[in-house]
Amino acid sequence: MTVNLLDFNLQQLSAFLEEAGEKPFRAKQLLRWIHQYGENDFSAMSDLSKSLREKLAGIAKIEPPRLLREQQSADGTRKWLLGTDVGNAVEAVFIPEDDRGTLCVSTQVGCALECAFCSTGKQGFNRNLEVSEIIGQLWWANKALGRDPKGERLISNVVLMGMGEPLLNFDNLVTALDLMLDDFGYGLSRRRVTVSTSGIIPAMDRLRDRCPVALAVSLHAPNDELRNRLVPINQKYPLKELMAACRRYVEKAPRDFITFEYVLLDGVNDTDAHARELIALTRDVPSKFNLIPFNPFAGSGFNRSKPESVKRFQNLLMEAGIITTTRKTRGDDIDAACGQLAGQVQDKSRRRAAAKEATR
Ligand code: SAH
Ligand code: SF4
Repeated sequence: MTVNLLDFNLQQLSAFLEEAGEKPFRAKQLLRWIHQYGENDFSAMSDLSKSLREKLAGIAKIEPPRLLREQQSADGTRKWLLGTDVGNAVEAVFIPEDDRGTLCVSTQVGCALECAFCSTGKQGFNRNLEVSEIIGQLWWANKALGRDPKGERLISNVVLMGMGEPLLNFDNLVTALDLMLDDFGYGLSRRRVTVSTSGIIPAMDRLRDRCPVALAVSLHAPNDELRNRLVPINQKYPLKELMAACRRYVEKAPRDFITFEYVLLDGVNDTDAHARELIALTRDVPSKFNLIPFNPFAGSGFNRSKPESVKRFQNLLMEAGIITTTRKTRGDDIDAACGQLAGQVQDKSRRRAAAKEATR
């Protein structure tokens, strides 16, 4: 069986080469070809010996997910639909801004956690993405975007905020993170790679120890009663424990704050009382807030908060000294905005089993 080299970080690639009777340091050259030059044909890797190239072609492959469709929004946002297996696909989104370019990456086909306001959650869960499928999103996007006139890469930031709960695909996530951070891979700074989680506490602690990157926590409610309803995983990992886990994370994080994400749902979690409760809840956690106006989808049962409610909510947090931004909606004309990524998810029957597993 041939192995897919897109599944390996530097250490794993070195071990693979050593086992094949080759010098482990070749791994750095190979990694550069694969991730920096986007090469998937061994015969084009001109600084490797012919015999090594031929040997590799016999035992290995470099196989990214299949590119099914590419779309571009009027605001410059780009979206790629990548096939993972028959009938399944995930989406990656590139959001250009003046001072940075952010790629939003998916980690699972669907999601088992069923947050009430999330269209990915409504799709059900099929499976975890392989490392090659997570890093393959960067691989494709880098290739498609090319470089700016100064020769710089366009992707400066990565957010793991696409489809799925990253911390429920821990091993593959951290291997992909290794590649994002590796100088021979994508060379991104830890501060510019953000994992977003609904609050899987034990995995937050593991991430802090194994590969601390910036962390965003999806809060969406200031008390357990409401959060149990909006983010059902809260029944297993309630707010008090979540706040403690956030404080532990900050101690070792590359940034000295946690970003709290808060989707504003009209009349559900956007009143002054909610804002005040939120300020009290997060008082002991060094944090910034990112408010996300809800992006509606068919059958969600929620409405986006009115612009004046969003402003009021933001002002209340700011007056309490919390740095608060409101996320601009980008790419909604191509269904690329937060919570609109649906990909294609088949065999949703796996959801029940996976949800059980996740919440055990
Ligand atoms: N599972 C992870 C990461 C993916 S979701 C998490 O929940 O954090 C990324 C962000 O999009 C989360 O903050 C999520 O709550 C938000 N989101 C989900 N559905 C949304 C919607 N319909 N409108 C706006 N944001 C949404
Ligand atoms: Fe999963 Fe995140 Fe959507 Fe919740 S918000 S269902 S955790 S992807």
